[in-house]
Amino acid sequence: MSTERVVLLGTKGGPAIRPGSPMPTATLLQLGGATVLIDAGLGAARGLCDAGVALTALDAIVITHLHSDHYLELGPLLHTAWTAGLKRPVPVIGPEGLATYWQGFLASMDFDIALRQRDEGRPPLAPLADIRVIGEDQAIGPLALRAMRNVHPPIEDSYALRVDHAGRAVVISGDTAPMPEMVDFARGADVLVHEAMLEAGIDALCARVGNGDDRLRVHLERSHSPAGAVARIASEAGVGQLALNHMIPVDDPAFGPADWEAAIRPHWPGPLTLGGDGAEIPLPAAAKAA
Ligand SMILES: [Zn+2]
Ligand SMILES: [Zn+2]
Repeated sequence: MSTERVVLLGTKGGPAIRPGSPMPTATLLQLGGATVLIDAGLGAARGLCDAGVALTALDAIVITHLHSDHYLELGPLLHTAWTAGLKRPVPVIGPEGLATYWQGFLASMDFDIALRQRDEGRPPLAPLADIRVIGEDQAIGPLALRAMRNVHPPIEDSYALRVDHAGRAVVISGDTAPMPEMVDFARGADVLVHEAMLEAGIDALCARVGNGDDRLRVHLERSHSPAGAVARIASEAGVGQLALNHMIPVDDPAFGPADWEAAIRPHWPGPLTLGGDGAEIPLPAAAKAA
């Protein structure tokens, strides 16, 4: 029986990294024999290898939206999988615009790609990304994938994902403000991986990395979810476990696990994974009848 699990490969909200900080968003899902990467922020390839997953083993990649912290490493990841021996196309499912990104990446690496094809006998790289525009319902091998548009202005093409297989379900919120629809979308899921923001940490963050006006704060407050609201969604949806990712702030020494617990625990008493790159969440076994 193959491992069935969710691994949080990158748990930091936003694109910047600093000494000691975790990496931007990427999540590994292994379920029903399928291996899926959800989002490919910087560090995704390293994270997969650290989780023991060969880059050539990916059955699909899903990108929730086109903020760089969710797809900056998509091209480099596929290129690296290619140099590691990838020979079959990998479905890459995401918003409109991914095809343009992929063409641009290929163009930027044209010298190297052509050289490796000629010099090392590698297959053409371009067709190895089988780019598909995300729809409401689609299959990834044995998995049923549902996408729900979430609330992440100013981006409209931004999605929460639900993957179901043999009575198990994993829901990934994507980047979103709290939305009542998430409760039904995540209903009964074994694991809800939800983005979260610690409101008390926003002032310090804006002072540190903001641009001197309030645009960063306005973006954060209308496009992301306070941890307490996330905890209430998990409770109302009756999920089995709550895991936080895309945590903001995450590299401010003034805020640690106790602050996250203080925000979450009044509303969510169940199993909680507080982010952390490499954190692994095992999934329950499939129902016998499935
Ligand atoms: Zn993000
Ligand atoms: Zn985003």
